[in-house]
Amino acid sequence: MTDDAAATPICLARPLPGPDDDPRRGCAATRGADGRPLHAAALRFFWGPMDCGKSTMALQMNHNHARQGRRGLVTTRIDRSLGPQVTTRIGLAHAAIEVTDGLDLRDLVRDAWADGVRVDYLICDEASFYNLEHIEQMADLVDNDDVDVYAFGLATDFRSSLFPAARRLFELADSVARIQVEVLCWCGREGLLNARVIGGRVVREGEQVVIGDTVDTADVRYQVLCRRHYRAGELGPRD
Ligand SMILES: [Zn+2]
Repeated sequence: MTDDAAATPICLARPLPGPDDDPRRGCAATRGADGRPLHAAALRFFWGPMDCGKSTMALQMNHNHARQGRRGLVTTRIDRSLGPQVTTRIGLAHAAIEVTDGLDLRDLVRDAWADGVRVDYLICDEASFYNLEHIEQMADLVDNDDVDVYAFGLATDFRSSLFPAARRLFELADSVARIQVEVLCWCGREGLLNARVIGGRVVREGEQVVIGDTVDTADVRYQVLCRRHYRAGELGPRD
């Protein structure tokens, strides 16, 4: 007995193949209780360093889906505005639900449904700051409720270690994509890592999450560096 047999999904109630069936979707090509084909929801994680346009892409994705008649909720945690909204460095803003430790994303969706509000997908910005339970709840929503979840966030912290939530997303997500808008290090190489800068120096110890910005005037600021200059702690000519 091997695990191979268990790896093949078996759909006892699967109808005969029809025009709506996509064999790549396996069981999810069956129909829901209302007769509509289920569309095979997915958990997708988009990651990149600070300043690479994650929040902009999150809002663009929300816009694109809404334009096609789908309805979603936008959540965030510790947005740079410190308010319940997603803001972007290029000036876009959108109201968002602040994710707290006690918030259950499944309840969030089911409560909306109970109120007659359609929810086809979640846009989860700053997902690296969510806790591990939130990531499991995302997977539940995809697998049990056919809700798409699009998570956006940093992969690594200022020590270049994975955030726990990001690690879990890498482990569980149906797809993981590095955001393609390149942020450049001062040397011109591609920026990869987020350095925390205090008093003009790169620091490598401290709390994992400390609010800061990428502007020079902040007490605690972050600067995206290439791997070489992150490891060397070199911030470039302006410092
Ligand atoms: Zn560099």
